[in-house]
Parts: sequence; structure tokens; C-alpha cells
Amino acid sequence: MSNEPGFDTLAIHAGAQPDPATGARITPIYQTASFVFDDVDHAAALFGLQAFGNIYTRITNPTTAVLEERVAALEGGTAALAVASGHAAQLIVMHALMQPGDEFIASRKLYGGSINQFGQSFKSFDWHVKWAEGTAASDFEAQITPKTKAIFIESLANPGGVVMDINGIAEVARKHHVPLIVDNTMATPYLCRPIEHGADIVVESLTKFLAGHGNSMGGIIVDGGTFDWGKDNRYPVLTQPRPEYNDIVLAETFGNFAFAIACRVLGLRDLGPAISPFNAFQIITGIETLALRMQRHCDNALKVAEYLEGHDKVEWVSYAGLQSDEHNKLQKQYMPKGAGGVFTFGVKGGYEAGVSLVSNVQIFSHLANIGDTRSLVIHPASTTHRQLDDDQQKAAGAGADVIRVSIGIEDADDLIADLAQALKQL
Ligand SMILES: *Cc1c(COP(=O)(O)O)cnc(C)c1O
Repeated sequence: MSNEPGFDTLAIHAGAQPDPATGARITPIYQTASFVFDDVDHAAALFGLQAFGNIYTRITNPTTAVLEERVAALEGGTAALAVASGHAAQLIVMHALMQPGDEFIASRKLYGGSINQFGQSFKSFDWHVKWAEGTAASDFEAQITPKTKAIFIESLANPGGVVMDINGIAEVARKHHVPLIVDNTMATPYLCRPIEHGADIVVESLTKFLAGHGNSMGGIIVDGGTFDWGKDNRYPVLTQPRPEYNDIVLAETFGNFAFAIACRVLGLRDLGPAISPFNAFQIITGIETLALRMQRHCDNALKVAEYLEGHDKVEWVSYAGLQSDEHNKLQKQYMPKGAGGVFTFGVKGGYEAGVSLVSNVQIFSHLANIGDTRSLVIHPASTTHRQLDDDQQKAAGAGADVIRVSIGIEDADDLIADLAQALKQL
């Protein structure tokens, strides 16, 4: 092929070919823990990082390798590393960047689980998050110190549908020579490719829209190949000789995919959250229909959001796809094909109304997840955010009246009818 294949073609073909041993057209599930060496020299080369190949499924697996190559192609990165979950991806990225006492800057507009991971668990590694007070690039620059090692944002922030100014924040990151990490879970590469806007590293929960069917956990780290690790000695994992690998310096040996290698041969090797080949297989299959599903998620979400915006029992709707939404302009700039499948709205009647709505829906499933083919609903104040007081809930975007939906790919009319009957009971 003379031209670079398009997104939909890459989603089906990137990284895969018929199995050389059997001709199987679909990538096999290589359900094995280990791989036999050709001979002793081959084993030594693999262990010394002088040759690429499979040793043990914690570190590489041929099924998982197809998933990695495919997502790297879709995101426009140089290489990727798949792991057990989105949170595992975030842990491994930070493990490669942070030394004890270091800081990173993060948006407050993040998935609740990431706020916990950064604010609480990372503290025990002596890694310290500094929260940007707003979403403007200047809010991030204001938190920079000599200890800052990274900036972390979501392209489309969960759950409120905040679209971030990736170009502007990337400029701050470049100026201070720290990598910009973008969690692209909610947008997916179908709607937005953060590396094209200046991101250096993309992380994603594959559990959500990429797997797409609510059936498998996974996470991925994509190396943009854009960051110059060797420019100073602030990232010793990449710039200091590794004694266990014949003293090679990862940034010198692996160039523009050194970050992905560091995450694999140090973080994944030692921390251990490997994805199962079975889950990798499920996610590869899911990705083949990403473009079709994602467009339908967006189209359905817009129809449902427009319906709710006009409903007299709904106080407000926060969806960047709505003309009236404060993020509509940035959405058109960064993700013109749509604003994703997840949004929040407020019901009149507060806590009681919220509980009633999630109890009375029939097609929507009441659960904690997003990015499934089926429509999902949750009332954060009575579930994920129940331990917080009123003020804390409001600050987290989880006030008593807030309902979060992840709109599936069913018939939009059926989803609207389901919400209509549940709202009628309030
Ligand atoms: C779910 C989610 C995560 C965490 O991913 P897991 O696969 O559940 O570990 C991270 N970021 C966002 C935006 C998410 O929605």
C-alpha cells in the first residue's frame, strides 16, 4: 500500500497477520506462561535485551503484542505496553518517571479512581501530586517546581465532559521539559489523538470503550516517541546504566521508544500487573469495531442529552456536545466527530430523585462502569462518592442530584423512552 492506511483499516489490521504456524486468520490466544529458547545463546540475548523475543508472559506475549501494536498505530505512537488495567498503566508510567520526593501536576477533573490513586496510594511511594486549580494552561504552569516530573490530564474528563486544552498544556510541559501524559480513555483515539496535540505519553483504560463490551479489564501505555529523555539527568530510570542489562542506557539504546521499553523491562517486570492473553484477545476483537461503536455512542449520547435538556424534571445537563455547553468550542476543536458517550445531568428533587431514577430504569443498568455496548447509569452520591460529605461531593462533581450515564449503542428512541418513564415516576 502506498498511503498510510486509514484509522478504520488500522483498527482491524494493525499488528496482526495470519498465524505463521497454522494460518489461523484471527490472532490466537497464546495461553502460555513461558516460551522455549532456541539455544543458550538465544536465551542470553533475550535476557540481555540484545534481541527481541518472548521469555515469559509477565513481560511479553504474542497475543498481547498484537494489541500493543494496534493501539500504538491508532494513537500515532512509536510503541505501547498493555497491562492488567488502566490503573496499572498509570502506576507503571509514574514508576518510570518518579523518584521518591518527586512531584507531578494533575488536573482535578479526573476519574475518581485516579484522584484516589494519585492523592492517597502514590503518597506511600513518596510521589506527590499537585492539583491544578483550574483547567487553563496557566493553572498547570503555576504548580511547576524543580521537583515536577510530569503533567497528567484527561483529554475528555470523566465524568463531567470537560474537554481539556491539550495544545496549551503541552506548551507548558515543553517549556519546563516535563512529559505531558494524557488519559485518553473517554475520547479514545477515534475521537482524539493526543500525541498530535503535543502529548508525550498516552494512557488508557482498555476496559472501557476499546474493549467496548464490558467483559475484560486492561490498560495501555503509548509512547509518543517525542520526549528527549537524555537532555538532562532528571529521569534516571532512562538515563542511568542498567547493571542487570549489561549496563545499557535505555534512552540511548532504544531512542524514540525507550519509554515503552523502560515501562516493560523495569516497571512491568518488577511490579508485575500483566494482562492475561485472553483479555488481550477480547480487547483486540473489541477494537475492530471501535469506529462504528464510538460514532454510535456519540450520536446516541447527543440525542439523549438534547432530550434531557428539554425535560422539566431535569435541572441541567453537562455534555460538551450540546451547543449550550461551555466546552462545546473546545470539543469542536479537539474531537469534532463527537463528545463521547458519557455525561452527567442533575435531576430536580436531589438525592431522593437520583435514587428513584436509578431504581426505575429498565434498559439502563445501574452499575459502576462506562464504555459498554449497553447503557449504564449511576448515582454517585449514593454509591462511588457516598463516603464524602455534601461539600466534598459537590467539589467532586458528585452532588446529591447528579446522575452519570454511559450511553450505549442501542436504539436511541428506546433509551429516551426508558428515561422518560423513570423520570415520570419522580
Ligand atoms: C476506568 C478509568 C480508569 C481506570 O481504569 P481501570 O481499567 O478501571 O483500572 C482510568 N481513567 C479513566 C478515565 C477511567 O474511566
